[in-house]
Formats: sequence, C-alpha cells, structure tokens
Amino acid sequence: MTAEAKANVTLAKPSEAFRAFCSHLEEHGIPAEPSAGSGVVFRYDGFEVHIAERPDSLGFVVRAPSPNILYFVKEAVVQHLSETEPDAALALRWSDGGAAARPPNFQLATVESCEPVHDMMIRLRLQVDDCAALGTDGLHIKLMIPSDAAREPVWPAVAKNGTTAWPQGPDKLHVRYYTIRSFDLVRKTVTIDVVRHYGGKIAEWASTARKGASLGLMGPGGGGIPETTGCLFLAGDYTALPAIARILEALPENAAGTVLVTASQPGSGRQYLPETSLTVREVDGGSLYAEASRLVSAESNVQYAWFGGEFDEAQSMRRLFKQELGLDKDHQLSVAYWRRGKETDASLGEHDD
Ligand SMILES: Cc1cc2nc3c(=O)[nH]c(=O)nc-3n(C[C@H](O)[C@H](O)[C@H](O)COP(=O)(O)OP(=O)(O)OC[C@H]3O[C@@H](n4cnc5c(N)ncnc54)[C@H](O)[C@@H]3O)c2cc1C
Repeated sequence: MTAEAKANVTLAKPSEAFRAFCSHLEEHGIPAEPSAGSGVVFRYDGFEVHIAERPDSLGFVVRAPSPNILYFVKEAVVQHLSETEPDAALALRWSDGGAAARPPNFQLATVESCEPVHDMMIRLRLQVDDCAALGTDGLHIKLMIPSDAAREPVWPAVAKNGTTAWPQGPDKLHVRYYTIRSFDLVRKTVTIDVVRHYGGKIAEWASTARKGASLGLMGPGGGGIPETTGCLFLAGDYTALPAIARILEALPENAAGTVLVTASQPGSGRQYLPETSLTVREVDGGSLYAEASRLVSAESNVQYAWFGGEFDEAQSMRRLFKQELGLDKDHQLSVAYWRRGKETDASLGEHDD
C-alpha cells in the first residue's frame, strides 16, 4: 500500500452508523474481517478500509495502492456515511488534506485526431499530461463536457470532505464512462472509441470534434482483466467492444472460449477486435442474450463469463451466467454500459447494473 488517509467523525449514534456501514458493504459482497481493537477491516481489490467504533465517533483508516484509488475509496466512505449521517459526512476531514483545485485523477485532454474506426464508432486520440496514470487501476475513465455546449467549461474541484465538487446549475457537466482502448506513453496520448448513436451528447460531440478541442477526463477506475485460466465466454454490444479488445489483448496466447459481439455488417466485429485464440461470433442486430443462451448450453464448460452492454440484456445475461452456468460472483460479471431511453450520470457514480 502506498497511500493512506485517516479521519475521525464525531457522531450522535456511532454504533448505528457502524452497523449501516458494515451491512452496506456486505450487501456489495465485501465481508467485514475483525481488526485490531474494536473495529473491522474491509479488503477489496487491493485497498482496505479500517473502521473503529468509539463511544462518540467512528475512526476510518483507508489504505490503497495508488493516490487515484485512495481518492475513490475516500469518496466512497463519505458517500456511504452521508446516507445515514449527512451532517457528519459534510464535516468529515481527512488527514491528507482538504480542498484542492482539482481531483488528483482529473486531466484536461485535447483532441489530437478524430476518425472512423468501425462503421459504428469514432476513434478519438487525446493528448494528456500524465499518460502513465491511465495505464493502471482499471480500464475505464469518465469523459466530461459542458451540458450546455455554448458555455465555457467549469471543471470539478475537491470539497473539504474529500469528495468531488461537481459544478452545478448552468455549469453542470455531462459525464459518461468510456473505456481506454489504448495509450501511448511516448506520445502521451490515449485512444477512446465512441459509439455513434442518436441523441447522445458525447456521441454527437465526438462526431463533430476538431483537432485542439478539449474535454475533461477522470480516472481510471472500475473493471479489470479477468484472471482465469479456464474456458471464457465474453459478450457485448458496440459499447463493450473496446473493453473486450483490452481483455483479449491481455489473455495468454492459448486462451480458449468464445467471444460474441454485435456486428452491423458481417465481419465488422472480427475486424475491430485484435487477433485471438478465442472463437469470435457475431450477431447482426438481434439479441445477444438469445444467441448467448443457445451457445452456452452447448458450451457448458465455461469457467468465466463476462458481458457489457444494454441494461436489459445485462440483467438477462447475469441470470444466464448465474443460473444456467452456475457461476459464482468471482467467475462472472455482467455490467450495464447504457440503458435504453435513460441517461446515466457518471458524475454520480451511476453504472446502472
Ligand atoms: C464501464 C463503462 C465503459 C463504457 N465504455 C464505452 C466505450 O468505450 N465506448 C462507448 O461508446 N460507450 C461506452 N460506454 C457506454 C457509454 O457510457 C454510454 O453509451 C453513454 O450513455 C453515452 O453517452 P452520450 O452522452 O453519448 O449519451 P447519453 O446522453 O448518455 O444518452 C442519450 C440517449 O442515448 C441512449 N444511448 C446511450 N448509449 C447508447 C448506445 N450505445 N446506443 C444507443 N442508444 C444509446 C440513452 O438511452 C439515452 O436515451 C461505457 C459505459 C460504461 C458503464
């Protein structure tokens, strides 16, 4: 662990807040382990949160492998606390400092090029200051542009309690998750592939972006490469193609299994994806779920299953992975990348799964 922060929060009913905290994390599949003294520790994905219950307060110690992850975890602690103790959450102060001009994982990016990469996607190559920071801690970032395109952007700052202070009212930002398709440490660029779709602010911004245009970027975080040696089943619509490509690039040469993707034209999915030892299958606009259920019953040796795509399909896929394939939470992941007819605000950490 390289980064640490502490906080002590005075509370009227510390044991209630303590219990609420523990049950919230346990609902997310993160069990409490006993810690030294009168507290517990939650360990997950390389970070840990120690909570000590005291007569009039709760003490938090957060440790993480990088300042970027530490920032996310501190923010999550405050957000959980605000559900039961909103005033205390506002008053909380971390030992490693308060308000800062910008979140440590925020960068201003400038468009270097913008070109079609697939009949459904535009590739943005973005110039950033700290490219190395984008190569660890997860595959995804938040992209942000002003909600009102006519306004000068006002970027997020850090509040005194360590959470992100997002601009409000007319300065509100439109924030969405995207996958880092690739990065070039020498040229300090990252590549993002944006799906063209009707009515999307980022999708429209990308389709008209010019060299030199700027946008905000925050992250990375969320979602890594599955660690498995067994037979894989990976599926997704256009929005998940960049993530599937990253996963395929990271797999060992002899990895086995099936990739199922949406393809507007025969071969377009295969063409986009890197060379792989997995069998790539395409669905031309029909239901990925219908094809997946047909395939996996015939391929019941699947040991890890992954899906990214529309909310309803993500729900059906999760059921398929759990019930038909009998995979536990460590061996399957089905994530809603977007939801038909609904906007999902990534500034609220919304993910819709
Ligand atoms: C972890 C994660 C990683 C992601 N990675 C990528 C990525 O690499 N590339 C990418 O293009 N997307 C990716 N997405 C999906 C992307 O965040 C959403 O599609 C987002 O809604 C697009 O923002 P927007 O401003 O264009 O549209 P919004 O303003 O959010 O939505 C406007 C309308 O468009 C609809 N809509 C949203 N997305 C789509 C779509 N794909 N097709 C049809 N209608 C849609 C919405 O339902 C809404 O009605 C990812 C999402 C997550 C959670």
